[in-house]
Amino acid sequence: MQLSVVIPCYNEEEAIPLMVERLTAAVEPWKNSAEIILVDDGSSDSTWEAIEDAHTLNPMVRGLRLSANRGHQVALTAGLEAAKGERIFMLDADLQDPPELLPDMMKIMDQNFDVVYGRRAKRDGETLFKKVSAWGFYRFLNAMSDVPIPKDTGDFRLVSRQALDAVLAMPERSRFIRGMFAWAGYRQVAIEYNRDPRIAGETKYPLRAMLRFATDALTGFSTKPLKIATRLSFLSLAVTALMAIYVFGSLIMFSTAPGWASVVLAMSFFSGVQLLTLGIMGEYIGRLYMEAKQRPLYFLSQETLPGVVSPPPEADPHKLRDLRPATSRRRA
Ligand code: UDP
Ligand code: MG
Repeated sequence: MQLSVVIPCYNEEEAIPLMVERLTAAVEPWKNSAEIILVDDGSSDSTWEAIEDAHTLNPMVRGLRLSANRGHQVALTAGLEAAKGERIFMLDADLQDPPELLPDMMKIMDQNFDVVYGRRAKRDGETLFKKVSAWGFYRFLNAMSDVPIPKDTGDFRLVSRQALDAVLAMPERSRFIRGMFAWAGYRQVAIEYNRDPRIAGETKYPLRAMLRFATDALTGFSTKPLKIATRLSFLSLAVTALMAIYVFGSLIMFSTAPGWASVVLAMSFFSGVQLLTLGIMGEYIGRLYMEAKQRPLYFLSQETLPGVVSPPPEADPHKLRDLRPATSRRRA
């Protein structure tokens, strides 16, 4: 098997048919030795049915279905573990990353690279908030991280079997896959592209998911936040020492002062520092706890079988709801 394509899909029923079509065209030169792995990340719409249909039409498509929604990075991991190819191409289901770049990326990889990652030169159709927060995030992450992590880069990339095996050998639960590839090393190179708007549906990364992702990235690749806590406590000790001089000084020189403002200021400053320090430690302890449990990252609940073609839609009573318009089968 020369090429595996891995795509995590969460509530992407509308995007899948067109995505499979464009992808099939892009992998045409390798079609005799390629697979397209679509991972249904516990979707609540008819994503799985769409994947089964794609498999029926095109045996190159393999479907994996997770037992529950585990998040983008875990769904991607599930697909990567199932991939058999010598080269592995990762992209999103919403066609924000153009599959047509594959031949160029293959050519670059022929020059002995292990990772060819897409760097976003332009992002169309995304909110100003998303662009600004992503811009700030990658710069902040690099300032904090112990390994340089390519800026403005998602998981859109072509990787060699060697690089993939290195990443799959990392058992951590809080997965930040683009950072794990950076850490793995090997020869890496960027290819610039313009990120298109989503073809259908809306983003599956609400602010909450973005914050969780950012915290995983930071704590997964750096112990600097822990050191910040220590530095902040030094700073607060220094401020306390100055305050003590001031307090004793005013006690001796001007009897007692009302001092309400300084007390309130000091209290809020120190409780802030303490909470921050506790919070940062809590993040790491929480992660230690999750890692210590050693739970499997995901379970598969269904899989399309190679060479087995699903029965035609009419013969399957469950498919009847597919006849309804897309809006009414959203949460089927
Ligand atoms: N995704 C997933 N599980 C989730 C959230 C997202 O598998 O819990 C998939 C989603 O279907 C898409 C990719 O991850 O293929 C990226 O998500 P999205 O396009 O919503 O993120 P954005 O491009 O807005 O950052
Ligand atoms: Mg997207």
